[in-house]
Parts: sequence; C-alpha cells; structure tokens
Amino acid sequence: MSSIKETVLEINLAHLTHNFNYLKSKVAAHVKMLAVVKASGYGSDAATIATHLEEIGADYFAVAYASEGIILREAGVKAPILVLHPQPVNFPKLIEHQLEPSLYSSRTLGEFIKIATLLDEKEYPVHIKFNTGLNRIGFWENDVDHIMDQLKVTNAVKVVSLLSHLAASEDHNEREFTLSQINSFKKTANEISDKLGYTPILHQSNTSGILNYPEAHFDMVRTGIGLYGYGNEVKFDKKLRPVASLKSVISQIHKLEPGETLGYNRAFKATDFTKTATIPIGHADGISRQYGNKKGFVTINNQRAYILGNVCMDMIMVDVTNINCKEGDEVVIFDADSNAAQVAEYSGTISYELLTAISPRVKRVIIDEN
Ligand SMILES: *Cc1c(COP(=O)(O)O)cnc(C)c1O
Repeated sequence: MSSIKETVLEINLAHLTHNFNYLKSKVAAHVKMLAVVKASGYGSDAATIATHLEEIGADYFAVAYASEGIILREAGVKAPILVLHPQPVNFPKLIEHQLEPSLYSSRTLGEFIKIATLLDEKEYPVHIKFNTGLNRIGFWENDVDHIMDQLKVTNAVKVVSLLSHLAASEDHNEREFTLSQINSFKKTANEISDKLGYTPILHQSNTSGILNYPEAHFDMVRTGIGLYGYGNEVKFDKKLRPVASLKSVISQIHKLEPGETLGYNRAFKATDFTKTATIPIGHADGISRQYGNKKGFVTINNQRAYILGNVCMDMIMVDVTNINCKEGDEVVIFDADSNAAQVAEYSGTISYELLTAISPRVKRVIIDEN
C-alpha cells in the first residue's frame, strides 16, 4: 500500500548530507564550500536546506535576490549570504539583513557605496563579479581601474571576494573556452588584488567546475545542482543522490473507446481502447504544458506512463493501458530511480528547470532519517 495520499515533494536530508560530503571530498581542505540555495533551494525548501547545510559545515550561502536571502535570515541562518544578482532598489533591505551583494557594474557598485555611506556602514562586505565569457553580468577585465577609482574614495565597503562564473563547465567540447575563462579570471584577480593590497576570496566554479576543473577551485566553490543530487553527467549522477522526489497518486481511472478524446481541446484521440489515469498535478504545480502529448511521462508500478493530451492546470492524464494499477496507487514524477535529469532530458529540458518549477502548492515533506 502506498503511503502517498496526495501530491508531495519529499526532501531527503540524508541525501543532502551525502552530496555535500561528496562534493567537499572533491576540493582541497582549505577550499570553502558555498551552497547555492536560490530559487527555493532549487525548488525544494531553501530554509530547510540551508539550515541543514549550515549544521554540517557549509561556509557560505548564495541566493539570486535579496528577498531569498531574507527568508534564510528569518529562518535563523547565521553564515554569510551572497546575493548573486541584487537590484539597487533592494540595497537598503540587503544591508538591513546583513546580506552581501555581488556587484557587477560601475552602476551597482556606485549605488551600493552611496547607500552604505548613507547608512554609515564601515567596511561592509561586498563581492566583485567579473565577466570572463558568459557575457551575462559582471565587470569586464579592463574595468579594474574604474573599480579602484570607486573604491579608493570610500571605506563604507570592503571587497571580501572576487568571483566569476563559467559558461560551459559541464561541456567537455568547450574545454578550451573554459580554460580561457579560468586564465582570464586569474589575471584579473591578480591585477585587482595587487591594487587592493590584499587578496580577497577567489571563486569561479559551479558544480561542474568542481567536478571537471580542479584548477578553478581557488579559495571557494559554489555548488548548486550537485547538492540536490545531479552532476550534469551520468558518471557523476551515479555518485550523487537526488534530494527531491515528486510523488502523487491516481485519482481516477478512465476507459476510452476508439474515437473518444481526452482533455482540453480534445488533444488526444483514442484510436484503440485506452485506459488512462488522472493524476492531481498540473501546470500550476510546475508540470508545464511542454510535457503534454507524450513528451513527458510518470512512473507507475515501475512502468512509464506517458502524458496524454494537454497538461491541465491541476491535472494530467497518463496512459496506463498496459499497466496494472488502480485508483489510489502511487505515481512517481521523479525520484532517485526515475530521476529528474532523465525525465527532463526526455522532454527536452534540464534537471534545473524541472526541479525549480515545482510550485509552492505542492506540499513539502522533510525526510530526516538521522
Ligand atoms: C546558479 C549559480 C551557481 C550554481 O550552479 P550549479 O550549476 O547549480 O552548481 C553558481 N554560481 C552562480 C553565479 C550561479 O548563478
């Protein structure tokens, strides 16, 4: 009998511990571990994830936006929290909650210095982000003199780290490009450190950087997806354990005769006798319409059941013609066996998107076996 009675996202903290320890074992002892818990801890529950990771030795946290950092502070997280993509409108709040901005342009650095000065801050910790080829956010290599001009005239802020981000650390065909990003970061970091008169913490690696580029570990690494159990490659996926499992139940079974249709816009037309199961999860829960019309599947009694017709807001209907199942049976959308990377790949997306889409409507259940 299934213990699952409704749609739930199970969050397994023993798996999180395993992944943290595995990733930590890949870096030298002096390298700090920064845990990326943006987007609700990759769709799970940021406060639970961060609290657990702080207990087992995470040194730093990162989120994308100030509002996400505030949630962690309110949950009692004491470790430093880096805000990767802060917007100037939130700088006062960021300071109020002792969050540390990644400053990525003269505009954001200038605005931050202005607000920190107004609030009478001294040596408020800030991070300087360099663009080394992702071309998303960051100062350019030749901005060092501008940065120094802005920093020289204030003691309201202190640069505690220099960072950059790799564009293709999971792609072995892009090795040369990645190595050029690493060299560019080293060069810029040396130049600005010389001018500052000290070397801040240097960090450039995400999960795949940790796994594929030991030369990019520097003083700290930023791991996101790896903590949640995915290594962007089957060989690493095998070493990691998915933290989140999305499960549901069969609400109802329907039997369609040839010629009958299923769901909105009658998108599925039965050509043969078809048995379908209706599951209480839909696009409002994060199973987007891209998974409809057999582009996505769930697992019922260890067999794949493909999604038929359009995904509804609150439901999907899946093909169980050849699956022995009944109403109330457990349905797995993804778990450790049918993992989110495999399910996402089948539908033409990536684990990151599938995981982070799971909406707040889905009940989170924490599994803490220790
Ligand atoms: C999201 C993010 C990470 C984490 O990347 P993973 O591939 O999930 O490990 C690290 N650094 C930055 C700047 C990010 O935006």
